[in-house]
Amino acid sequence: MDFEDSPELAAFRDEVRGFLDAHAELRRGDERDWSRNGAATDEAVAADYRRRCREWQRTLADNGWACLTWPTAFGGRGASPAQQIVFNQELARYDATSGFITAAQALVGPTLMRHGNQAQQSRYLPPLLRGDEWWCQLFSEPGAGSDLSSLATRATFDEAAGEWVLNGQKVWTSNAQYADFGILVARTDPDVPKHAGLTYFVLDMRSPGIDIRPLVQAQGVAHFNEVFLSDVRIPAADVVGEVGDGWAVTRTTLRSESSMISGAGQATPFAAVLALARRRGRTDDPVVRQSLARAYSNELIQKWMGWRTQTAVMTGRHELALHGSLLKNFFTRSFAFKAGLAIDLEGAEGMLAEDAEANGFWQYQFLNQFASKIGGGTEEVHRNNIGEQALGLPREPSVDRDLPWSQTRRS
Ligand SMILES: Cc1cc2nc3c(=O)[nH]c(=O)nc-3n(C[C@H](O)[C@H](O)[C@H](O)COP(=O)(O)OP(=O)(O)OC[C@H]3O[C@@H](n4cnc5c(N)ncnc54)[C@H](O)[C@@H]3O)c2cc1C
Repeated sequence: MDFEDSPELAAFRDEVRGFLDAHAELRRGDERDWSRNGAATDEAVAADYRRRCREWQRTLADNGWACLTWPTAFGGRGASPAQQIVFNQELARYDATSGFITAAQALVGPTLMRHGNQAQQSRYLPPLLRGDEWWCQLFSEPGAGSDLSSLATRATFDEAAGEWVLNGQKVWTSNAQYADFGILVARTDPDVPKHAGLTYFVLDMRSPGIDIRPLVQAQGVAHFNEVFLSDVRIPAADVVGEVGDGWAVTRTTLRSESSMISGAGQATPFAAVLALARRRGRTDDPVVRQSLARAYSNELIQKWMGWRTQTAVMTGRHELALHGSLLKNFFTRSFAFKAGLAIDLEGAEGMLAEDAEANGFWQYQFLNQFASKIGGGTEEVHRNNIGEQALGLPREPSVDRDLPWSQTRRS
């Protein structure tokens, strides 16, 4: 592996540093950093975080650094994936983030660029790039998560009005309560096989008939929501791609989601766990020492996995990149181990919530492990991907692939 920048990338890195030095503060690594407040349970702090994410996104856009890899025709910089990695590496040193706006850009941007028409691209992409409009993803339903193509939200066409009418329920919709628009998949033909009868829409989240109910998680925050749709109307112009071809469009979004999740990695504050063990006088305990060594080894392996994939992208040798499912599962597992260790180290105090050390930072991370193991595809589903795509094992049997959806058995 070659970790050195090419001369072109080194010049780009200097340019990025110049921009960041001029517009952001270096991270201090403690509670003074606003960019770590994405998980805040205090609503005032969380609202301030969202405002600052939007401001940062505007700063990026005003200076030509927003959505680096988007083509210049859509307002991006036409940058290479390697340049994006360099930018992310440098940004990680600063107290600045676009937070959830980046995730929406990664899902919606490539989908509209590939499948949207010109009117949709010029209406939605510029405000998405600037962070002026926020988006959510209305895919999962109570009976359709891993097996998304079995979803049941129905869209029927009202010829007279030239509008689609939607009825159904979505769930786990992150940030729906703040979103201006959503990307949504619904069933437009129940009498063809499940993948064939779907259509992909843009939904104005302020449309009548939308009821958003936040789901409060164990940490006390409501990251995601249930969204009920009752006779919600969507103009025909807001179909993305062709009617009935929604699965192809959905796959573009899901691919972008996977590469976003596997590229993002996780914060890996092993040094913070070691400092905690020292503060608590636990470094003589042989069991703790074993666990610290394991967490440290995980962190090194994780860094190596990340570097290997980044180097593969930077050198154009994509065949050397590790499978996204492998990265996602390893990152979430090693982070869960570290969070559990930190709570053990806190002893009896570990049982508290926000009264524990650093406002319950580790308690939040510990509880969050369950969400991160599920979001963007569960561990089991990612293991299926590894089996089928990396190991060439036989595909999972599917009994309803060719049946009309209306005749399939559903939960
Ligand atoms: C933090 C977070 C954010 C999310 N944000 C969004 C969002 O913004 N928009 C959105 O649409 N969705 C979102 N989701 C939903 C997420 O995509 C689904 O939770 C996920 O796809 C799993 O679906 P499910 O919850 O219905 O579980 P199910 O699919 O019902 O799975 C239940 C269990 O069965 C296992 N299982 C299922 N199928 C298989 C199989 N073939 N082989 C082996 N085991 C299997 C699963 O691993 C799991 O353990 C989010 C979820 C989380 C946790």
